[in-house]
Amino acid sequence: MSSITGIAILGATGSVGRQSLEVIQAYPEHFNVVGLAARRSVDTMADLVDRHRPHVVVMEEDGPAEVLRGRLASDGISVQAGQAAVQELVQRPDVDLVVAAVVGRAGLPGVFAALAAGKRVAIANKEPLVMAGELLMAASERYHVELLPIDSEHAALAQLLRGVERESIDQLILTASGGPFLDADLSFVRSATPDDALAHPTWNMGAKISVDSATMMNKAFEVIEARWLFDLSQERIQVLVHPESRVHAAVKLLDGSWLAQLGPADMRIPIAQALAHPRILDLTRRLKDARSLDLCELGKLSFRDVDEGRFPALALGRQALEAGRGRPAALCVADEVLVQAFLDGRIGFGEISEGLDEVMQEFIERDIQDLDDILLAGEDGERLAASKVEG
Ligand code: MG
Repeated sequence: MSSITGIAILGATGSVGRQSLEVIQAYPEHFNVVGLAARRSVDTMADLVDRHRPHVVVMEEDGPAEVLRGRLASDGISVQAGQAAVQELVQRPDVDLVVAAVVGRAGLPGVFAALAAGKRVAIANKEPLVMAGELLMAASERYHVELLPIDSEHAALAQLLRGVERESIDQLILTASGGPFLDADLSFVRSATPDDALAHPTWNMGAKISVDSATMMNKAFEVIEARWLFDLSQERIQVLVHPESRVHAAVKLLDGSWLAQLGPADMRIPIAQALAHPRILDLTRRLKDARSLDLCELGKLSFRDVDEGRFPALALGRQALEAGRGRPAALCVADEVLVQAFLDGRIGFGEISEGLDEVMQEFIERDIQDLDDILLAGEDGERLAASKVEG
């Protein structure tokens, strides 16, 4: 077996995709970029192709693929379009690992195709595990492939839990920065603007996930992710507010001791851990701007319980997880719709959580057997959320 890992990145032009490529480029002795897939950012993709020389490029739609093909005509790189081409890419024999970083439910089929093809999946976007966690874990078991989390809290937990016996675990702890509205006046929060919500104190992220951090729906989704990845019931997965965002996760053990993972807020760390699993790469030596933490400079770290009155999304997520039957999928897609409406200025910040609560009340549970059922539950959530936006 070759010691070089062949990698395909789905969602290559996004933040996780580009940071994955940065790690890959720093370790040519470990990684090789086989294929890149993206929705429609032709300019960014052309730039990535120039720098990383993949064998295959897939764009979601024909139009952007055609434009890209024209630009790369002399390069001998195969440019394709559509979901079938994504499936072909992940099935290639020279692909060992697939980075799943497509925003939204559009990323689900690619993840399932990669697992079915027996490829390790490093999973960055939340939707697959939130919407279809049970099916996904079953698929990873059926095809004997590992799902490696890139979400920073889950990557930290995966690292902490190596060598820990299940019987000795009391609780898993996910930390939350609390977002920009942790201590803000509640009347201000209700009428907060997108600019207010996007001012995340510690992580620099895309708009959707920044708003999800401000409502804490992001953390609700992470509880759901952790429930499936680590196979523990949701009551044993706790959330602590930790504004400094330096402890990413912790494990409380039954003997009274704790394990905690600390590090800078740098997504390249969880990315590298997933790509090189179980190896730890020397990022602080190889990437010129990668730093470790200076604990003395930090001085102190603070923690507090989540105020669930301020952040109702957390309880909504837990209830959806408990109930199952398509609820998490509906919640996930409804959140996509409501956050977009907020970003477009069509609803206020407070209406995101209110709208989600109403969607959950109106949702009619489904029998979930496969991915199609999940996607239908997602469509229910989409339709119910859209009716809130239209008023
Ligand atoms: Mg996270």
